[in-house]
Amino acid sequence: MAKGYMGKFLFINLSKEKVQEIALPDWMAQQYIGGKGFGAKLLYDLLPAGTEPFAPENLLMFLPGPLTGTTAPSMRACAVTKSPLTGTFLDSYFGGHFGPEIKYAGYDGLVITGKAAHPVYLWIDDDNVEIKPASQLWGQDALEVNAAIKKELDDDTAKVVSIGPAGENKVRYALINCEYNRQAGRGGAGAVMGSKNLKAVALRGSQPVAIENTEAFKSAVKKANADLEASPDVQALVETGTASAVPFANETGLLPHRNYKDGTYENANKLSDSGQSKHLWLKSAACMGCPIRCSKMGVVRSGKYAGTVSDIVEYESAGLMGSNLAIDDIKAVAYLVKLCDRLGLDSMSAGSSIGFAMEACENGLIESPHDVKIEFGSVDAAEYLIKAIASREGFLGQLLAEGVKRAAEKLAGGAEEFAVHVKGLESPAWGPRGVPGMGLALMTADRGGCHQRGFPVAYEAGGEKWNGKPVEPLGLEGKAEIVAQLQNYLAGTDTLVKCDFGGFGVQPATYAELLTAATGHSVDESLFDEVGERIWNLTRLFNLREGIDYTQDRLPSRFVNEPLPSGPQKGHRITEDDIKCLRSDYYKVRGWDEKGTPTDETLNRLGLQNNESFSF
Ligand code: SF4
Repeated sequence: MAKGYMGKFLFINLSKEKVQEIALPDWMAQQYIGGKGFGAKLLYDLLPAGTEPFAPENLLMFLPGPLTGTTAPSMRACAVTKSPLTGTFLDSYFGGHFGPEIKYAGYDGLVITGKAAHPVYLWIDDDNVEIKPASQLWGQDALEVNAAIKKELDDDTAKVVSIGPAGENKVRYALINCEYNRQAGRGGAGAVMGSKNLKAVALRGSQPVAIENTEAFKSAVKKANADLEASPDVQALVETGTASAVPFANETGLLPHRNYKDGTYENANKLSDSGQSKHLWLKSAACMGCPIRCSKMGVVRSGKYAGTVSDIVEYESAGLMGSNLAIDDIKAVAYLVKLCDRLGLDSMSAGSSIGFAMEACENGLIESPHDVKIEFGSVDAAEYLIKAIASREGFLGQLLAEGVKRAAEKLAGGAEEFAVHVKGLESPAWGPRGVPGMGLALMTADRGGCHQRGFPVAYEAGGEKWNGKPVEPLGLEGKAEIVAQLQNYLAGTDTLVKCDFGGFGVQPATYAELLTAATGHSVDESLFDEVGERIWNLTRLFNLREGIDYTQDRLPSRFVNEPLPSGPQKGHRITEDDIKCLRSDYYKVRGWDEKGTPTDETLNRLGLQNNESFSF
């Protein structure tokens, strides 16, 4: 096995209480590299078609990449499973220290299947693996349980991932808390963990990650750090984290307001970096080995929410829990987001679900409970709903714990007109009506409406040139090429598993240099596009197999039928004809047929026709 890899996966079947080490095949490392690639291949090969996400057979994987745990900057890990929210392939990324520790414990990934008879947690101490009882921990919040496990193990250096009550209650967008301030947030991996009766995984490792050519690797790391320093986007993150995206999104009309009805919010600045730094931030913090340090740790020092210790309210949470709900008190937003973390809810889907409920109340489709008025601008309503959702309490808790797609189907009466999701994943805080390329990226993202699988906004609204040429913001032509290329490259580098923010600076050639020096296999920057395209087609095959076809490559009704009421792209929307045109161009660029299925020629070109399967 090439250096950089530990050479094996750890498979744990909780039903059978069986633990196995399985060798990582060379062909898999070469064709799929790590992280997203391994996850896509393992899920496709090992999960029987049509498996219910909460069935014991579903796989829950924690996967680092070949550079995770080395000195290469900004490397992370991902959780991969079949999503209970969308039914699609799901990869959800997290930073912190748990990913490197998987490598130090000697593994290229943890693959968990089955369902424990009673609540348990896993204690993986190098090659000693124990399934330990966790009934005494069930019900604790995701951060409490982390501390409790460290105490029980008498080791506060152990690295822990855990779920809160939302995961236990199988809320379809429950997250996995990864140490204290990082989350595998989107798509419900925490609910899959809860369905397995698995409260937490604790890790301790002592094995270094071997590097093939240490001198070349040191030089590549130096280059990667220089790339980061030279990037204005990265330097902005060093200063402000992602919160400076709030004014940008507001000025360009992309910021969600009142359940995405609007794209601008008059009080947006209160939620931005300037608003946050004044009230919250004390110091910067980072995931392991990351020089960017985009986290801004802080505390609410006064008022009703005093004492809330907070990481930065990053852009997505500021957008979805703040402007989307018409809440402009940044201290309250920090409190609400922290509440989501503790209870184990994805604050993006939670914010979107609460916005949906507020509009449903406005429209008379649901009623407020007697003790709180569900309306835009109400922090009390948001707090009430977060707690109700996490515990699945009452009608509203049950309804919204299912996500906006299912909630709208249940409510009917026109609710689907304002349920903002793609394939069931609540949309990110980037309303696409003035940036159709972003609309296409949301329509076609493999895990549902996601901004991290391709983000053309920088070209459409940020003024960046694509291949040296300016991009027409509202035009449709050429958007399919941009989106497909971005998706390929990101899927390719998500195999490493790099942080997206590190990827703003580190150049493709530098990633290739790092990988070459680590593994000893000479690769160039084109590798990421090639592997990314292979993975993108494999996740497409997975989704098609699970019954998610081209009819779901579309945008929510709000973006199609309701023109933007404000901002520079006021009056614009992405019409049904626009969708057809974008989708058809995209399928052509991808080498898919008119129904979005990869052709035999495409699969052959990518080595996906009759290729090797992983089995054990
Ligand atoms: S940029 Fe931020 S999220 Fe990414 S690895 Fe660094 S500290 Fe973690």
